[in-house]
Amino acid sequence: MSNATQLIHSIPVDALTGAISVPIYQTSTFVQEAPGVNKGYDYARSNNPTRATLETIIAQLEKGSVGVAFGSGLAAIDAVVKLLKAGDEILAVDDIYGGAFRLFTHIYEKFGIKINYVDTTNAENVFNAITPATKLIWLETPTNPTLKVSDIEAIAKIARANSCLLCVDNTFASPALQQPLSLGADIVIHSATKYLGGHSDLIAGLVVTKEKELGEKIKFIQNASGAILAPFDSWLVIRGIETLHLRVQQHCRNAQAVAEFLETHPAVDKVYYPGLKTHLNHNIAKKQSKGFGGIVSFTLKNNTEAAATAFVTSTNYFKLAESLGGVKSLLCHPAQMTHKSIPAEKRRASGVADSLIRLSVGLEDVQDLIADIEQAFEKQQKEKQVFEPSISA
Ligand SMILES: *Cc1c(COP(=O)(O)O)cnc(C)c1O
Repeated sequence: MSNATQLIHSIPVDALTGAISVPIYQTSTFVQEAPGVNKGYDYARSNNPTRATLETIIAQLEKGSVGVAFGSGLAAIDAVVKLLKAGDEILAVDDIYGGAFRLFTHIYEKFGIKINYVDTTNAENVFNAITPATKLIWLETPTNPTLKVSDIEAIAKIARANSCLLCVDNTFASPALQQPLSLGADIVIHSATKYLGGHSDLIAGLVVTKEKELGEKIKFIQNASGAILAPFDSWLVIRGIETLHLRVQQHCRNAQAVAEFLETHPAVDKVYYPGLKTHLNHNIAKKQSKGFGGIVSFTLKNNTEAAATAFVTSTNYFKLAESLGGVKSLLCHPAQMTHKSIPAEKRRASGVADSLIRLSVGLEDVQDLIADIEQAFEKQQKEKQVFEPSISA
């Protein structure tokens, strides 16, 4: 069965009524025949049929055994960290999602969990940084916003040899492109807010585990902590997943064309996209994923915040907003938005230059998107001429 067919038919028809769309069970509790005698559901924090359907679908898509749906990507990450105890260490990718950094460093360090940030693009660095206390390796691949790629299979072998769990944040790739559990990871997490939801209309998170026993632990943590996904939002994610395969293919095609265009533009300095042969780990990206995703980042020759601001306020179709993975194209300026809380020197050292711009390439016609970028550069140039009159003028 092809992936597209599997994806569409992983969404079940309702057994009770034949409804082709998954029913939304908007209920807090379930009536019992006798104490403890029920139809598999007792209270909606513990379980809900709509959420359970989403959990089964994502477990199938990620080739895992248990899926668990949370109220946000960060709640999903939080549940995985709660597998650990004081004294344990996390070895994490150095240019980690800012929210995960905030959670690890500002919340969990207080509880005695140590975090060790490492450049995971070279698996040898992971091997060298493991200590006897390391219990969890945390990867994101590709990363945000510089699209660094790490070798999941090589790092999974290192994790296994050292009895650590490997968790991969698969938000940027989505299961349509990359399935970390098949490459040896133990846990996958998603911000389903992005490609899985796909329409910029919800906040949701997912955890999938390879082994059933680990999945049961995550379910226990969720029931104990309470960060569940609501029935309607579960339904919205299911609806998004119905077109995941198709959307992601088009995101990839559009992003490749945009990245190739940017590479030839005289105002552009560097372009970051795993689908370009110039990308540092293009070969690893090619080996472990079916496509290179919809996110493209680039820096300007005029490497200033002012030049980036002029560009990001000059586009028509690319809307200025945080987040990514939706139908509409978005762009953001990390130095002033997603990465503003990171001190400038530290931010620059991690590759996020002052002029770096991140594009979430949407599903519009790619020629329109390229024309939009072209006119934004022209507008930016004109503004520059107004402020800096040439000598001949
Ligand atoms: C957005 C995002 C998150 C956090 O997810 P929320 O749904 O916003 O809580 C985690 N990881 C990555 C890579 C993200 O892009």
